[in-house]
Amino acid sequence: MGVSLGLPQIRGAGPGPSGAPREAGLADRHGRRATDLRLSVIDKCNLRCTYCMPVKGLPWLPAARLMSAGEITRIVDVGVRQLGITELRLTGGEPLVRADLEEIVAGVRTAHPQLPVSLTTNGIGLATRAQALAAAGLSRINISLDTLDAATYRALARRDRLAQVLAGAEAAAAAGLAPVKINAVLMRGVNDHEAPELLAWALERGFALRFIEQMPLDADHGWTRAEMVTAAQIRHRLSTRFRLTPHPGARDGAPAELWDVHPTTPAGAPEEVPGAGEAPLGTVGVIASVTEPFCADCKRTRITAEGRVRSCLFSHEEVELLPLLRAGATDAELAERWRAAMWAKPAAHGMDHTGLDSPDYVQPERPMSAIGG
Ligand code: SAM
Ligand code: SF4
Repeated sequence: MGVSLGLPQIRGAGPGPSGAPREAGLADRHGRRATDLRLSVIDKCNLRCTYCMPVKGLPWLPAARLMSAGEITRIVDVGVRQLGITELRLTGGEPLVRADLEEIVAGVRTAHPQLPVSLTTNGIGLATRAQALAAAGLSRINISLDTLDAATYRALARRDRLAQVLAGAEAAAAAGLAPVKINAVLMRGVNDHEAPELLAWALERGFALRFIEQMPLDADHGWTRAEMVTAAQIRHRLSTRFRLTPHPGARDGAPAELWDVHPTTPAGAPEEVPGAGEAPLGTVGVIASVTEPFCADCKRTRITAEGRVRSCLFSHEEVELLPLLRAGATDAELAERWRAAMWAKPAAHGMDHTGLDSPDYVQPERPMSAIGG
């Protein structure tokens, strides 16, 4: 299947009359307010995960079009001071591909000592950088790991790097970036049988595992509803080895639905076995963007690596911030354009049990790696 990227519609000539109320931060027409910023620092990646990247990679942005460390700090600063951002996640492509990632973290941290700053990474090269990233002020880390089997890793990521990722996860924990979170995407017939083993591995180490349903955001357009592993199927797989109960507490817009994990009741034993009321072994999260969407509670705003606002992962529209910044715009002007972009955020991504199979559903022009997951 060919790679068809197309182009998202770019708006950059001015915010226009958005109608967005100035006092409400990054509000939209549907009553939501974005406070969680996902910022991509680079589109390039050193893996080729089958559900994300084409085998040959993508035409990477030239360095001059990427936001510099200083520009990233400025944009974050506008988000925090003018628009009510309270959380930052740095992502990619692969953020560790940027040699100045520590500088980016330190720049943001110095300007905003109270802002939680986390990182989503594939973990390659993390073993030697975790300590420096923690010292620069990184608060938390999510490491993507779909399998514990080297051959399966090679098939999924199209690179032989499992040992480096495992070393990276251990180094992150040793550097105090706890709790280390692990993101896993399950692919039918490839790694879906490994779900219980991945959970046991994570629990043993005190890592917080979350499964992400595969979304139709791959550059190869290979996603099908029939092939994707649903949240219900993930929970069913886990139930072969663990008992899951809903984790108490409000979800509060978090994408992952959390479950407490208990040992299963031994076969033949009565339901109320000794120890059944004991503390859970840990938690597991399931992010069911496709089959149990949470758009109504979404708190996210996104900035792509070339400094464009995307109001949603599934947007067909992007709004330029970087050229405005480079032309000398004030913080208020940048904030106004960002606010206008978010005011137009769609109510939902349109993925429900029937929507994706309908000819009306159009996959976004950018794959996940170019948006920043
Ligand atoms: N390269 C980094 C990494 O892999 O963690 C950061 C960027 S990656 C796009 C962010 C997250 O998106 C990863 O956890 C990855 O597994 C997930 N992801 C990528 N493509 C996806 C898809 N089609 N459906 C669901 N999750 C996907
Ligand atoms: Fe790279 Fe992350 Fe996409 Fe894998 S999921 S190809 S590591 S950007």
